[in-house]
Parts: sequence; C-alpha cells; structure tokens
Amino acid sequence: MSTTTIYSAKKIVTMNPSRPQATHVAVRDGRILGAGSLEELATWGDYVLDDRFGDKVLLPGFVEGHAHTMEGSLWSKVYCGWFDRADPNGKLWAGLKSIDAVVTRLRAAADAMTDPTAPVSGWQLDPIYMNNAKVTRADLDHVSSDRPVGVLHASGHILNVNTKALELAGLMKTGVNHPGIPLGDDGYPTGELKGPDAMTPVGPHVGFERNLLDADEDGLRNFAKLCVRTGTTTITDLASRMDPDTVEMMLTVTAEDDFPTRLVPLRYFMGLSPADLIAEVTTLKARSTERLRMGRIKVVADGSIQGFSARLRWPGYHNGAPNGLWYIAPDQLSETYHLALQAGLQVHTHTNGDQATQLVLEKLAPALQKHPNPDHRFTLQHCQLADAAQFRQAAKLGMCANLFANHHYYWGDEHYTLTVGPDRATRMNACRTALDSGVPLAIHSDAPVTPLGPLFTAWGAVNRITASGRVQGEEEKITVAEALYAITIGAAYTLHLDGEIGSIETGKRADFAVLDDDPTTCDPAVLKDIGVWGTVQGGRIFAASDL
Ligand SMILES: [Zn+2]
Repeated sequence: MSTTTIYSAKKIVTMNPSRPQATHVAVRDGRILGAGSLEELATWGDYVLDDRFGDKVLLPGFVEGHAHTMEGSLWSKVYCGWFDRADPNGKLWAGLKSIDAVVTRLRAAADAMTDPTAPVSGWQLDPIYMNNAKVTRADLDHVSSDRPVGVLHASGHILNVNTKALELAGLMKTGVNHPGIPLGDDGYPTGELKGPDAMTPVGPHVGFERNLLDADEDGLRNFAKLCVRTGTTTITDLASRMDPDTVEMMLTVTAEDDFPTRLVPLRYFMGLSPADLIAEVTTLKARSTERLRMGRIKVVADGSIQGFSARLRWPGYHNGAPNGLWYIAPDQLSETYHLALQAGLQVHTHTNGDQATQLVLEKLAPALQKHPNPDHRFTLQHCQLADAAQFRQAAKLGMCANLFANHHYYWGDEHYTLTVGPDRATRMNACRTALDSGVPLAIHSDAPVTPLGPLFTAWGAVNRITASGRVQGEEEKITVAEALYAITIGAAYTLHLDGEIGSIETGKRADFAVLDDDPTTCDPAVLKDIGVWGTVQGGRIFAASDL
C-alpha cells in the first residue's frame, strides 16, 4: 500500500467553493486524498505528517494559460529589454534605457565570443520606450560588421538585423517589395523585419532558427525553473512547431524525475494546410502523457498592438500608423474551425486588435452552426481590444477569453498616448466586462513577452497600474478572489483540465504553489511581491532555493 503524507500549512486556500480553507492536505500517489483538519484526514489510515510548510500558505499550483517555453532558450542570448528581469537562475539583469546601451551590451557579448563567425543574438528589445526610435542596420553594424547581428523585439513579431545578416540572407539589394520589409531612402532594407514571412529567411543567420518558437532541451529545463520560482505547476507552450524531433525531446525531458511542470503545448498552425494540421494534432493527442498534454491548436490572426501590426477597426491607430498585418487568410481560419470542431480538437486563437477578434467571431459562428459542440471552449488569446459587444457575442458562442493583464503595466502608458489613445486604452484587457458578460476568464503573461509570474498577472488585473503609476481602467478591475480564480481554475478551464487541476480537493493532482504570505488577506497592492518558496507538482516537492 502506498504512503499517505499529510502536510500541515499556516493556511491552505483551496479554490474549492464547498471548502475554501483548510489547515492540512493529504497526498497519496501524487494526488490529493483530501483537504481539511488533521483529525479528518487521519481517518484515511496510516500517514506521515510533514510540517515543512507549517509557516507557508498553500494555493493550487498556478496554471499559466499563455506562455512560450522559448523563453528558456532566449536566456542563452543577450537580454536587451527595458525592464530589469530575473533569469532562470535568479540573476537580475538591468533594463537598458537607450539604443546605445543595447548596442554596448551586444558589442560586449560579441567581443567575448571566440568563434569569429558566430552570430550575435539579442532579445526583448522594445523601442517604444525610446520614443519609438527605429533601430537600423547601421545601429547594429556598430555591434559588428563581420558577424551577423539580430535582435528580437519583446512582442516577438519584429526582428532587427545588421547589414551582414541581410547579405547572408540575400536581401541586401534594392527592389525588395514586401510589406514586412521596409526600405530606407537608399532603396535598401532598413534591417527591420516585420512578421514571420519577413523574419523567417533571415532568422537562422542571426541565431534565431526556423524553430524560433520552440525551446531546445536545456531551454525547456531552464523554463521549468522559472515555473518553480513563480509557483506555476502547469504551463502552456502556446505556439509550438512540434516537429518530430521536438516532440521526442519534450516527451523525454518532461518525463525526467525532476522535471517540475506539466506542459501543454499547442500546435502552431503555420506551415500546414488545415487538413494536415488536424491530422497531425489528432496523432499527437494520442501520445500525450501525464506531464505532456498535446492535442490542441494555436492560430494567430494578427500581430501586436505596440508593434503596430495588430488589425484594428475604425478609427485605427491613434498616432495614424497604417493598419497592421493579417497572419491568416479568412478562408483558412474558417476551414480550420470547421475541421477542428468536426475532429473534436480545441483551437486557441491569438487576436490583439478588435478587427481580428471580429473576424474570429464571424468565422466561428457558422462553423458552430454546422458542427455544434456545447463545450468546445475555443479561446480568444490576448483579445486585448475587444469591446463589450464582442464579449457578449463571445459568451453566446461559448468562447473563453485569456486576457493579457500584464499589458497595463508594461505598455499601458504607450497605449494611452500612442497606439490606441485614451478611450480604448482604458478598456483594454477588459476583465470586468468579460466576467460580467459570462465569458470564462484566464489572464496571462505571454512569457517571454512579459515575465512569467501569475501573482504579478493577478496584481495587474486587480490594480491596472501602468509603469508610470497611473490606474488605467478603474471600471475594468477585478477582485483578488476573481484574479486568483483566473490563474488557477480559470486557466485550467480554458484547457479542459479543470476536473484535474486548479483547486485543492479530493482526486485532483497534488499541485501546490507554496507561498510566504496569504494573497487573500494581503493588501492587493503587494500581491505581486508575495514570496514564492517553490511548488509541489504531482506530489513532488521543488524548492526554488534548490534550483
Ligand atoms: Zn503568445
């Protein structure tokens, strides 16, 4: 007979409405036997009492419903972001406040390289904080003129490269005619590459392989460290290419005894016809394991708002920038929905602009009429600019929304002054409206776009504070209880996993976030500052200090 361990804690916040609090939780075979008092749990028979969490607060392990494991691999490249940021080993990297500072850090990395032809790769650049300065190939030629140099933007939708990189890709010429490849006054590309079409041919020359979206083996283990540090026990990889080698790697790494996270990769739609996509994902679904859950699809409809590549309805961008890019043709979107509904596969669709959200609603409605499924849980991912009418329609169609609550802090000021203007910036990521409209809600970081940290994301949805300290969208705030629901059961629901994870109750996986303080009683303003001791995942204990 297997051992039962009963953990005591200062408090256990279960997210189980019929028994919201407990002092003890019993675990057997990686699952929760029950939560309650020691006397109650002792009725199950022999047990080992473990008091190590006696001064901690346990919550259900957090579920991050929209992230990308590529962050784990990006940390092997040069961090070029505006904000200070902690790496998987806990080291804090200072944010860079000018293009010059970015060039200097990249040049230092280039100087330290021994291989004379190796590319210099940076990530998380965001010129919007630098008065939206354009980084040119001339800027990056200061890093190196012999080596290819490439810097990926924080949005993941734009890549800046130097002259050498353009030469290697055969693009250092006049007459290039592509909406994602702007030209300078001299007729040559400026080195800015917008959208996957433009980025893909150059990426491999600057250290961003065709498979940019997938973590490699070490990257996946690195990313899992970030999960432990943030209390996250289930993580999505929301645009995985899932080529055969990557799938084998994921199966191997997630099966390692000390791999601390459940991984839910969604197969990225690009590069396959809808029919081939459905066939491939159906095959992958059957190969799922307890810690690797395959069988879902990710579609991207448009780009990013701060990169001005999202598709907006009238009146468009506040600063007059031209409308953004479509990433999928309407017919392809429609066909994907029809076939996925028919095959019983779930689709999550990235929309940033409200025009992209509108396209999704218009294409899903007829697909559902043809293939009714009352519990499809197709999910709008980001859905940042949706208005109340769109949320009402999403609710009618049975859609979930996973809103990008971190955006208020990281780009709220820029949305207000530059991208969409005061009115629409105030309603962005309208968590209150979504819930009041009856749309099941999750909230996310989109790591690496912003740092993984469900408690920070909850803080963002509760407080809606921008980097400059303004509250943006008082009426769209949600309560701490609603935000904690969104980062546990709410996110699990969007993945059809809410019967298995997201609360601490009998029969569920023994997944806990181990916290230093109680988020349900602390000042909501310090929600993001609560210390995370580590996690318990499937009954296995992971201390952040041991990573
Ligand atoms: Zn994403």
